[in-house]
Amino acid sequence: MNRIHNFNAGPAALPLPVLEEIRDSFLDFKGSGMSITEISHRSKGFEDVLNDAVARTRRLLKLNDQYQVLFLQGGASLQFCMVPLNFLAQGGSADYVNTGAWAGKAIKEAQIQNKPVKVAASSEDRNFCYIPRNIAFNKDAVYVHLTSNNTIKGTQWASLPDTGKVPMVIDMSSDIMSRPVDMAHIGMIYAGAQKNIGPAGTCLVIIRKDLLDLCPDHLPTMLNYRTFAEKNSMYNTPPCFGIYTISLVLKWLEETIGGLEKMDALNQAKADLLYTFMDASGFYKATADQGSRSLMNVTFRLPSEDLEKAFIAKAAENHLGGLKGHRSVGGCRASIYNATGLDAVRDLVSFMKVFQSRS
Ligand SMILES: *Cc1c(COP(=O)(O)O)cnc(C)c1O
Repeated sequence: MNRIHNFNAGPAALPLPVLEEIRDSFLDFKGSGMSITEISHRSKGFEDVLNDAVARTRRLLKLNDQYQVLFLQGGASLQFCMVPLNFLAQGGSADYVNTGAWAGKAIKEAQIQNKPVKVAASSEDRNFCYIPRNIAFNKDAVYVHLTSNNTIKGTQWASLPDTGKVPMVIDMSSDIMSRPVDMAHIGMIYAGAQKNIGPAGTCLVIIRKDLLDLCPDHLPTMLNYRTFAEKNSMYNTPPCFGIYTISLVLKWLEETIGGLEKMDALNQAKADLLYTFMDASGFYKATADQGSRSLMNVTFRLPSEDLEKAFIAKAAENHLGGLKGHRSVGGCRASIYNATGLDAVRDLVSFMKVFQSRS
């Protein structure tokens, strides 16, 4: 077996013990004589998996009874349309913060429904290299929408803004479970699983129950949050394998890592190592402003595009994969999600030193 250091942006690295457990129990899930992908979603076996994934999510994020945990399909992208569809049906407007491509898509999905959305702040003026500060939010908005980590531009909110009584709806696709979250002003979190917690095709949704009162009756059943809340994510066949994998990743986070404070400390150590090295190198240049830099997606440039091409190719030869920047921005990106360890970052930095010295 020849596993590489995986710096992919998504789908991305999963913890090796999780993959091994999936492999080892794949043909015979808990003595059932069937694979997890073959058992009924109404069986006790799957019910236990779902309840475990929910309970671990609640414990890791310290959720109180006001919140419900759901697993939906359609990726994070379906949430871009479901959020305004459900929460703005009874009138009112929403504030959005535009911090890059994903936020832009969320805004677009609200606008094509002719919903009154306001871009309360944007970092487009400097190509999304920073997180806007001191934002004057509309106190009467139904919700404020944020993207906590900008996977493509490599920026991240260091801490969440105070939106007072207005609940935040946060796309946490690329930093969910990477650090503790202050739930004080949060109405909803959503996250496509494939960056930090599982395979593509499952979206974790954490919703404050009072927001369910906003969801109208006239929506298509599968687009209404109440459908999934009332049936504990089991209105139709849920993404069983995805939920199973998520439960194992969350078990790893709780039992091997030791919770989100520990995960956060590790993630900071990884990011520090990489940014500190790059800042001193005079060769690799981080694209995000200090204070706005992502701990998950480290975006950087080399002195020329030719050097970047050579860097990505040479890195791949050295078992360092996935370092190409997003196709819309070019450059390089090292995604260092939870499952990409300090050892991988150390090896990357060693390689970067050698590459620089030979260029
Ligand atoms: C990847 C990503 C998405 C899109 O997720 P899909 O599951 O592909 O729909 C949305 N938002 C952010 C921040 C992402 O990183």
